[in-house]
Formats: sequence, structure tokens, C-alpha cells
Amino acid sequence: MAGSSGVGYEAPMSQPKPDSPVAAKVFPSPNHGERKGGAPDMIILHYTGMPTGAEALIRLTNPVSEVSAHYFVWEDGGVLQLVPEARRAWHAGIANWKGESDINSRSIGIEIVNPGHEGGSPPFTPAQIEATISLCADICARHAIPRERVLAHSDVAPARKCDPGELFPWDALHARGVGHLVTPAPISGGRFFALGDEGQPVQAVQAMFGLYGYAIAVTGVFDAATEQVVRAFQRHFRRERVDGVADASTITTLRDLIAGVRA
Ligand SMILES: [Zn+2]
Repeated sequence: MAGSSGVGYEAPMSQPKPDSPVAAKVFPSPNHGERKGGAPDMIILHYTGMPTGAEALIRLTNPVSEVSAHYFVWEDGGVLQLVPEARRAWHAGIANWKGESDINSRSIGIEIVNPGHEGGSPPFTPAQIEATISLCADICARHAIPRERVLAHSDVAPARKCDPGELFPWDALHARGVGHLVTPAPISGGRFFALGDEGQPVQAVQAMFGLYGYAIAVTGVFDAATEQVVRAFQRHFRRERVDGVADASTITTLRDLIAGVRA
């Protein structure tokens, strides 16, 4: 291939190889550090939440921004690696899952180009979902990541984040063996719990969310923080209605998920 670039010579060994064969190339970000506690055992999915992918890529690679992710998925399905998997990228921020707060040390972060809720929630493209599925499947296989540890940014930071959002097709990933999902229980009538409710049933519901992994105080008071957790859960697992109300469909779906992890 020498000479094919038109420059007249081949760059000498300067192009680092991506960790995943799904990534076309490395586009390095300086925003990373040392992992604490060993190898990653979870994947966190994000949308970029900026008007264009180019703006997001600049932010994720700018030393001043102090944010990054391991991978970046363009609308056309092209994948860049910004941070080596062995390093701790800065994507999750203040977060928690199953009592662990250093999510960046435990995870691989994937940023999917999409302007998100503030940008009018346009759909993710089939090409980028296809690329995201291939990338997640490859990462899960190489690091033996359990299916229930492929999560949304909103799952680990429900008070601050809503990405990748309820339009993200988790079911398409699940159909290809990526992530943990159950068929959501149908929305119908019945007992529900909402902001302001108190008592033992609320306590029980909070305990269930905590058991699955969400950071939630089991107080018996359905407060604003509880509502944020319910919303985050619905964005991922009961996407048809995201209202922060713990209705029968939400609680049954959560119960089925918990049973699925234990099985
Ligand atoms: Zn995010």
C-alpha cells in the first residue's frame, strides 16, 4: 500500500490499533487515568447530547473539558476508540450501581452520537445501533461482562442524567444477546405509588429497586429521589410510559428482572 496515500511514504508504526475490531481507528483523548480495582465489568451507554457529533467529539477529546469515553459511535455506524480499554475514561461522573460509586473504574463507556432530549430526540440510526450491538457484544465477550451490567448512564446517575433515553432500542440489543431485559408487563389499572406516598409498600418497592442495583434510600417515603429512580428504570425497562409512577406494570417488570438475574 506504500505510496497510496499520496503523501509519498507510510507513517512509521504511529497508528495505534483499537482494542476492538469493531472500531475503525483510534482518535485519542487525553482525558483518562488509571483504573482502580482491575478490569472493567460493566458497559455504560450514553448519547452525546450535543447538536452535532463533531462538537461532541471535540468536547470528548479536549483536555479542558475533562470528559471522555472509550468509544464513540457516529450516525453512520463508524466507531472511534478515544481511550484504551485498560484506562479509566471519564464518562459516568458521580454515579452508583450496586453500592459501587467508582463506575468509571469499573466500566467501559460508549458515546452514541445523538442530540438527545434537548435536541428533540431524533431516532438513533439503524447503522449506529448495529455498530453499538457489535461493539457491546465484542466487549462483553472479551471481558466476560454479565448481561445485566450493560446499563444506561441514567441507571447509574438517575438524579442527573437521562441518556441514552427511552428512544434507545434496548430490545434490539437484547434480541442479539446484549443486555438484560424482560418483556414489560402491560400497563393497566391497579395499585400504584407516586410522589408523596408513604408506608411499608413504598419501602418494599424501594428495596426492590436497590436489589436490582439502583442507588436508592429505603425510607418508606416516595420522595423526589425515588421518582427519579423510577423514571430511570422506565427509560430502560418499561419505555412505553416514563412518568416516575411505580405502577403495577413497573413493579412487575422489576420483579421479573430481579428473578431473571437470580436464575
Ligand atoms: Zn451520559
